Amino acid sequence: MDRREVLKCAAAGVFTAWTSRRLSAQLPAGGRLTDKLSVVDGGGANLVAFSASDGFVLVDSGAPKSGDKVMGALGSNAKVHTLFNTHYHPDQTGNNEIFAAAGAKIVAHEHTRQWMSTDYWVPGEDRYQKARPEAARPTETFHTAGSMKAGNEQIDYGYLPLAHTDGDIYVFFKTSNVMAVGDVASPLRDPALDYFTGAWIGGRVDAMDIILKLSNELTKVVPAYGPVMTRAEFKAERDMMEEVRSRIWKRALQGDGPQDMVEASVLKGLARTWKDPYKFLYDANKGMFAHHNKLDPSVI
Ligand SMILES: [Zn+2]
Repeated sequence: MDRREVLKCAAAGVFTAWTSRRLSAQLPAGGRLTDKLSVVDGGGANLVAFSASDGFVLVDSGAPKSGDKVMGALGSNAKVHTLFNTHYHPDQTGNNEIFAAAGAKIVAHEHTRQWMSTDYWVPGEDRYQKARPEAARPTETFHTAGSMKAGNEQIDYGYLPLAHTDGDIYVFFKTSNVMAVGDVASPLRDPALDYFTGAWIGGRVDAMDIILKLSNELTKVVPAYGPVMTRAEFKAERDMMEEVRSRIWKRALQGDGPQDMVEASVLKGLARTWKDPYKFLYDANKGMFAHHNKLDPSVI
Protein backbone atom coordinates (compact mmCIF):
# COMPACT_ATOMS: atom_id res chain seq x y z
CA MET A 1 0.00 0.00 0.00
CA ASP A 2 1.61 3.31 -1.03
CA ARG A 3 1.18 6.62 0.72
CA ARG A 4 -1.61 7.75 -1.57
CA GLU A 5 -3.60 4.56 -0.86
CA VAL A 6 -3.08 4.95 2.88
CA LEU A 7 -4.39 8.49 2.69
CA LYS A 8 -7.35 7.35 0.61
CA CYS A 9 -8.25 4.64 3.13
CA ALA A 10 -7.85 7.05 6.03
CA ALA A 11 -10.14 9.54 4.31
CA ALA A 12 -12.70 6.80 3.64
CA GLY A 13 -12.54 5.77 7.29
CA VAL A 14 -13.13 9.31 8.44
CA PHE A 15 -16.00 9.64 5.99
CA THR A 16 -17.58 6.37 7.21
CA ALA A 17 -17.27 7.47 10.82
CA TRP A 18 -18.77 10.85 9.99
CA THR A 19 -21.64 9.25 8.04
CA SER A 20 -22.51 6.82 10.78
CA ARG A 21 -22.34 9.61 13.37
CA ARG A 22 -24.64 11.69 11.24
CA LEU A 23 -27.08 8.79 10.78
CA SER A 24 -27.09 7.88 14.43
CA ALA A 25 -27.58 11.53 15.35
CA GLN A 26 -30.77 11.46 13.32
CA LEU A 27 -32.14 8.57 15.31
CA PRO A 28 -34.25 9.32 18.36
CA ALA A 29 -32.38 8.02 21.38
CA GLY A 30 -35.41 6.93 23.43
CA GLY A 31 -36.33 3.54 22.07
CA ARG A 32 -33.37 2.58 19.92
CA LEU A 33 -33.56 -1.02 18.67
CA THR A 34 -30.57 -1.01 16.28
CA ASP A 35 -28.26 1.70 14.90
CA LYS A 36 -30.92 2.41 12.26
CA LEU A 37 -34.22 1.58 13.97
CA SER A 38 -35.99 3.31 16.83
CA VAL A 39 -39.35 3.31 18.55
CA VAL A 40 -40.72 6.87 18.70
CA ASP A 41 -43.47 8.10 21.03
CA GLY A 42 -46.42 9.15 18.87
CA GLY A 43 -48.61 10.61 21.62
CA GLY A 44 -48.78 7.33 23.52
CA ALA A 45 -48.64 5.07 20.47
CA ASN A 46 -45.44 3.38 19.28
CA LEU A 47 -44.09 4.50 15.91
CA VAL A 48 -41.13 2.73 14.30
CA ALA A 49 -38.56 4.88 12.50
CA PHE A 50 -35.96 3.43 10.15
CA SER A 51 -33.16 5.78 9.12
CA ALA A 52 -31.72 5.39 5.60
CA SER A 53 -29.37 7.76 3.75
CA ASP A 54 -32.28 9.22 1.74
CA GLY A 55 -34.62 9.73 4.71
CA PHE A 56 -36.86 7.84 7.09
CA VAL A 57 -39.29 5.00 6.67
CA LEU A 58 -41.88 5.50 9.41
CA VAL A 59 -44.50 3.03 10.62
CA ASP A 60 -47.60 4.92 11.83
CA SER A 61 -47.79 8.68 12.23
CA GLY A 62 -49.02 9.07 15.82
CA ALA A 63 -52.06 10.36 17.65
CA PRO A 64 -53.71 13.64 16.58
CA LYS A 65 -51.84 16.70 17.90
CA SER A 66 -48.63 14.75 18.54
CA GLY A 67 -47.04 15.95 15.29
CA ASP A 68 -44.60 18.41 16.92
CA LYS A 69 -43.44 15.76 19.35
CA VAL A 70 -42.88 13.21 16.58
CA MET A 71 -41.05 15.72 14.38
CA GLY A 72 -38.98 16.77 17.39
CA ALA A 73 -37.94 13.16 17.96
CA LEU A 74 -37.04 12.60 14.30
CA GLY A 75 -35.08 15.86 14.03
CA SER A 76 -36.02 19.23 12.55
CA ASN A 77 -34.55 18.43 9.11
CA ALA A 78 -35.91 14.89 9.00
CA LYS A 79 -37.47 13.76 5.77
CA VAL A 80 -39.87 10.82 5.83
CA HIS A 81 -40.15 9.37 2.32
CA THR A 82 -42.37 6.39 3.17
CA LEU A 83 -45.04 6.22 5.86
CA PHE A 84 -46.91 2.99 6.61
CA ASN A 85 -50.24 2.91 8.44
CA THR A 86 -50.78 -0.38 10.30
CA HIS A 87 -54.55 0.36 10.36
CA TYR A 88 -56.99 3.28 10.13
CA HIS A 89 -57.38 4.28 13.81
CA PRO A 90 -56.54 7.92 14.63
CA ASP A 91 -53.61 7.02 16.94
CA GLN A 92 -51.88 5.45 13.94
CA THR A 93 -52.88 8.00 11.28
CA GLY A 94 -53.28 11.25 13.26
CA ASN A 95 -50.32 13.06 11.67
CA ASN A 96 -50.58 11.67 8.14
CA GLU A 97 -51.25 15.13 6.71
CA ILE A 98 -47.96 16.50 8.02
CA PHE A 99 -45.85 13.79 6.39
CA ALA A 100 -47.87 13.77 3.16
CA ALA A 101 -47.43 17.55 2.84
CA ALA A 102 -43.67 17.05 3.14
CA GLY A 103 -43.70 14.54 0.29
CA ALA A 104 -44.10 11.15 1.97
CA LYS A 105 -46.03 8.41 0.22
CA ILE A 106 -48.46 6.66 2.56
CA VAL A 107 -48.66 2.87 2.22
CA ALA A 108 -51.56 0.93 3.77
CA HIS A 109 -54.05 -1.86 3.17
CA GLU A 110 -56.83 -0.87 0.78
CA HIS A 111 -59.43 -1.26 3.57
CA THR A 112 -57.55 1.32 5.65
CA ARG A 113 -57.87 3.82 2.80
CA GLN A 114 -61.58 3.03 2.52
CA TRP A 115 -62.27 3.57 6.25
CA MET A 116 -60.42 6.88 6.10
CA SER A 117 -62.33 7.98 2.99
CA THR A 118 -65.86 7.76 4.33
CA ASP A 119 -67.91 8.77 7.37
CA TYR A 120 -68.40 5.76 9.61
CA TRP A 121 -70.35 4.73 12.68
CA VAL A 122 -68.50 4.23 15.99
CA PRO A 123 -70.92 1.89 17.80
CA GLY A 124 -69.15 1.98 21.19
CA GLU A 125 -69.43 5.77 21.32
CA ASP A 126 -72.76 6.06 19.49
CA ARG A 127 -71.52 8.64 17.01
CA TYR A 128 -70.33 9.14 13.44
CA GLN A 129 -66.70 9.77 12.66
CA LYS A 130 -66.10 12.14 9.75
CA ALA A 131 -64.01 10.94 6.81
CA ARG A 132 -60.40 12.09 6.91
CA PRO A 133 -59.38 14.78 4.44
CA GLU A 134 -57.92 13.62 1.15
CA ALA A 135 -54.46 14.80 2.25
CA ALA A 136 -54.43 12.30 5.14
CA ARG A 137 -55.36 9.22 3.15
CA PRO A 138 -53.02 6.46 1.98
CA THR A 139 -51.57 7.07 -1.47
CA GLU A 140 -50.43 3.51 -2.20
CA THR A 141 -52.55 0.55 -1.13
CA PHE A 142 -52.34 -3.23 -1.45
CA HIS A 143 -54.50 -6.27 -0.70
CA THR A 144 -52.09 -9.07 0.21
CA ALA A 145 -48.41 -8.14 0.51
CA GLY A 146 -45.55 -6.05 -0.83
CA SER A 147 -41.91 -5.27 -0.30
CA MET A 148 -39.38 -2.46 -0.70
CA LYS A 149 -35.73 -1.68 -0.07
CA ALA A 150 -34.44 1.20 2.05
CA GLY A 151 -30.66 1.29 1.82
CA ASN A 152 -29.63 -2.28 2.56
CA GLU A 153 -32.79 -3.02 4.52
CA GLN A 154 -35.31 -5.47 3.08
CA ILE A 155 -38.80 -4.40 4.16
CA ASP A 156 -41.68 -6.82 3.68
CA TYR A 157 -45.27 -5.93 4.54
CA GLY A 158 -48.52 -7.83 4.41
CA TYR A 159 -52.11 -8.26 5.45
CA LEU A 160 -53.22 -9.65 8.83
CA PRO A 161 -56.90 -10.36 8.11
CA LEU A 162 -59.53 -9.39 10.69
CA ALA A 163 -57.22 -9.32 13.72
CA HIS A 164 -58.07 -5.87 15.15
CA THR A 165 -59.69 -4.17 12.13
CA ASP A 166 -60.16 -5.39 8.55
CA GLY A 167 -57.04 -3.53 7.39
CA ASP A 168 -54.24 -4.54 9.77
CA ILE A 169 -50.77 -5.03 8.37
CA TYR A 170 -47.33 -6.01 9.61
CA VAL A 171 -44.20 -4.17 8.48
CA PHE A 172 -41.17 -6.46 8.76
CA PHE A 173 -37.72 -4.87 8.71
CA LYS A 174 -36.23 -8.17 7.72
CA THR A 175 -32.53 -7.31 7.69
CA SER A 176 -32.82 -5.84 11.20
CA ASN A 177 -35.28 -8.58 12.29
CA VAL A 178 -37.79 -6.11 13.75
CA MET A 179 -41.51 -6.36 13.03
CA ALA A 180 -44.11 -3.65 13.64
CA VAL A 181 -47.53 -5.26 14.11
CA GLY A 182 -49.76 -2.37 15.25
CA ASP A 183 -52.66 -3.37 17.49
CA VAL A 184 -52.38 -7.07 16.60
CA ALA A 185 -50.22 -7.41 19.72
CA SER A 186 -51.42 -5.84 22.93
CA PRO A 187 -49.09 -6.34 25.89
CA LEU A 188 -50.25 -3.18 27.67
CA ARG A 189 -53.84 -2.32 26.80
CA ASP A 190 -56.79 -4.69 26.66
CA PRO A 191 -56.72 -6.45 23.27
CA ALA A 192 -59.29 -4.63 21.12
CA LEU A 193 -61.54 -6.13 18.46
CA ASP A 194 -63.07 -3.57 16.13
CA TYR A 195 -65.96 -5.94 15.37
CA PHE A 196 -67.78 -3.35 13.28
CA THR A 197 -65.09 -3.88 10.61
CA GLY A 198 -65.36 -7.68 10.88
CA ALA A 199 -62.43 -8.19 13.28
CA TRP A 200 -62.83 -11.11 15.67
CA ILE A 201 -60.90 -13.25 18.10
CA GLY A 202 -60.39 -16.16 15.69
CA GLY A 203 -58.99 -13.74 13.11
CA ARG A 204 -56.68 -12.36 15.75
CA VAL A 205 -55.25 -15.80 16.60
CA ASP A 206 -54.82 -16.63 12.88
CA ALA A 207 -53.04 -13.30 12.29
CA MET A 208 -50.75 -13.92 15.24
CA ASP A 209 -49.88 -17.28 13.68
CA ILE A 210 -48.89 -15.50 10.45
CA ILE A 211 -46.51 -13.31 12.47
CA LEU A 212 -45.05 -16.34 14.28
CA LYS A 213 -44.46 -18.07 10.95
CA LEU A 214 -42.64 -15.07 9.47
CA SER A 215 -40.44 -14.46 12.52
CA ASN A 216 -37.72 -16.34 14.37
CA GLU A 217 -36.76 -16.48 18.05
CA LEU A 218 -34.63 -13.33 17.74
CA THR A 219 -37.31 -11.17 16.09
CA LYS A 220 -38.35 -8.08 18.04
CA VAL A 221 -42.08 -7.43 17.83
CA VAL A 222 -43.25 -3.82 18.21
CA PRO A 223 -46.89 -3.45 19.32
CA ALA A 224 -48.99 -0.28 18.93
CA TYR A 225 -48.70 0.40 22.68
CA GLY A 226 -46.43 -0.83 25.43
CA PRO A 227 -43.04 -2.52 25.51
CA VAL A 228 -41.26 -4.13 22.56
CA MET A 229 -41.84 -7.88 22.78
CA THR A 230 -39.65 -10.91 22.24
CA ARG A 231 -41.12 -13.57 19.99
CA ALA A 232 -41.61 -15.77 23.08
CA GLU A 233 -43.68 -13.03 24.75
CA PHE A 234 -45.70 -12.59 21.58
CA LYS A 235 -46.27 -16.36 21.37
CA ALA A 236 -47.50 -16.35 24.99
CA GLU A 237 -50.04 -13.63 24.10
CA ARG A 238 -51.17 -15.68 21.07
CA ASP A 239 -51.66 -18.79 23.22
CA MET A 240 -53.58 -16.76 25.79
CA MET A 241 -55.88 -15.36 23.06
CA GLU A 242 -56.56 -18.90 21.82
CA GLU A 243 -57.44 -19.96 25.37
CA VAL A 244 -59.82 -16.99 25.66
CA ARG A 245 -61.38 -17.84 22.28
CA SER A 246 -62.01 -21.40 23.39
CA ARG A 247 -63.49 -20.40 26.79
CA ILE A 248 -65.79 -17.77 25.29
CA TRP A 249 -67.05 -20.14 22.63
CA LYS A 250 -67.85 -22.86 25.17
CA ARG A 251 -69.91 -20.41 27.22
CA ALA A 252 -71.61 -18.98 24.14
CA LEU A 253 -72.74 -22.49 23.19
CA GLN A 254 -74.45 -22.67 26.60
CA GLY A 255 -76.31 -19.47 25.81
CA ASP A 256 -74.19 -17.02 27.79
CA GLY A 257 -73.83 -13.37 26.74
CA PRO A 258 -70.98 -11.03 27.73
CA GLN A 259 -72.48 -10.10 31.11
CA ASP A 260 -72.94 -13.80 32.00
CA MET A 261 -69.31 -14.33 31.02
CA VAL A 262 -68.15 -11.50 33.29
CA GLU A 263 -70.15 -13.01 36.15
CA ALA A 264 -68.72 -16.46 35.41
CA SER A 265 -65.20 -14.94 35.55
CA VAL A 266 -64.37 -16.34 32.14
CA LEU A 267 -61.11 -14.32 32.02
CA LYS A 268 -59.89 -15.49 35.43
CA GLY A 269 -56.63 -17.36 35.91
CA LEU A 270 -54.93 -15.99 32.79
CA ALA A 271 -51.48 -14.41 32.71
CA ARG A 272 -53.03 -10.95 32.41
CA THR A 273 -55.97 -8.96 33.72
CA TRP A 274 -58.41 -6.79 31.78
CA LYS A 275 -59.21 -3.16 32.60
CA ASP A 276 -62.65 -3.46 31.05
CA PRO A 277 -63.61 -7.14 30.78
CA TYR A 278 -67.21 -6.37 29.75
CA LYS A 279 -66.17 -4.28 26.75
CA PHE A 280 -63.71 -6.90 25.58
CA LEU A 281 -66.24 -9.71 26.00
CA TYR A 282 -69.02 -7.69 24.33
CA ASP A 283 -66.84 -6.96 21.27
CA ALA A 284 -65.51 -10.54 21.22
CA ASN A 285 -69.08 -11.92 21.26
CA LYS A 286 -70.24 -9.54 18.52
CA GLY A 287 -67.28 -10.48 16.36
CA MET A 288 -67.61 -14.18 17.05
CA PHE A 289 -71.24 -14.37 16.02
CA ALA A 290 -70.45 -12.67 12.73
CA HIS A 291 -68.07 -15.59 12.12
CA HIS A 292 -70.03 -18.37 13.86
CA ASN A 293 -69.87 -20.62 10.78
CA LYS A 294 -66.07 -20.85 11.20
CA LEU A 295 -66.19 -21.97 14.82
CA ASP A 296 -67.90 -25.33 14.92
CA PRO A 297 -69.24 -27.63 12.21
CA SER A 298 -72.36 -28.29 14.32
CA VAL A 299 -73.41 -24.63 14.10
CA ILE A 300 -75.16 -23.54 10.93
ZN1 LIG B 1 -56.27 0.38 16.77
